[in-house]
Amino acid sequence: MLKSKLMNLLVTGAYLVSLSAFAAEVKLSGALTSGGLIIAEFDDAVAVQLNDEDLMLTETKQAVFGFGRDQQGKQRLSWHDSNGQQHEYVFTIAPRDYVIDRVDGVPQQTVTPDPEQQARARREAELVWQARDAAVTQLTEFLTPIIMPAKGRISGVYGSQRIFNGTPRNPHYGLDIAAPKGSPVIAPWSGRVILAEPDLFYSGGTLIVDHGHGVTSTFIHLDKIHVAVGDFITQGQRIADIGATGRVTGPHLDWRINWRHLRLDPALVVEHFSAAATNPVPPQAH
Ligand SMILES: [Zn+2]
Repeated sequence: MLKSKLMNLLVTGAYLVSLSAFAAEVKLSGALTSGGLIIAEFDDAVAVQLNDEDLMLTETKQAVFGFGRDQQGKQRLSWHDSNGQQHEYVFTIAPRDYVIDRVDGVPQQTVTPDPEQQARARREAELVWQARDAAVTQLTEFLTPIIMPAKGRISGVYGSQRIFNGTPRNPHYGLDIAAPKGSPVIAPWSGRVILAEPDLFYSGGTLIVDHGHGVTSTFIHLDKIHVAVGDFITQGQRIADIGATGRVTGPHLDWRINWRHLRLDPALVVEHFSAAATNPVPPQAH
């Protein structure tokens, strides 16, 4: 017993000297920037951590994670393999520039919700939080190439922020797709419906879908929702209609992607994980 522990220590110690040689045993796909979703594929891993936080592993040895709008810098993946050897891979998340809209010298136009509305909005935020908290499931729908959930003009991007008279407002975390009320919203990936609320204070008709391992999609300002909590929906299925519900000025889909409670950039996910991105069309012979 003691001897085998000592052997393990020796093996680990020997391994630590040559960490960099093992970097090839993990392959990362996705955007290594703030707001990015990343899938790590391991040759041999039985337990994986990102910055000392446990990650789930698929049967095919993949782990998914992401970084929020303002996360950047060095990150550490660590794992041990089926022989009990410890591995580590350090990588860097690059910062991004976001669209910042400064509006100065304008009269403050603040529409402050009354206390009752504020209490309602807080309760609703808690519902959304709990739905995402429970979405760390074994589904692996996020491994499928993703498709856009709606057709239309991109009218708002992730990370953008308005600064009114020097006071920053909350950044925008969705990808806005403008389209007439009633236009279809289709499932970008398959998944399980975990929240379907017709009328939340800020977000109006709101739908959240679990794609597995903490990855969720959120669709807001919906006119109609065609699915219910607990339904398993398939990629491409019409799940809702675009609307202008909640606090908005016009009909659009606001689509968000989370990993756990971190808000990611849907545009980056599409850029890196659509069918076109994952299976580039081979050059035509002529
Ligand atoms: Zn929006």
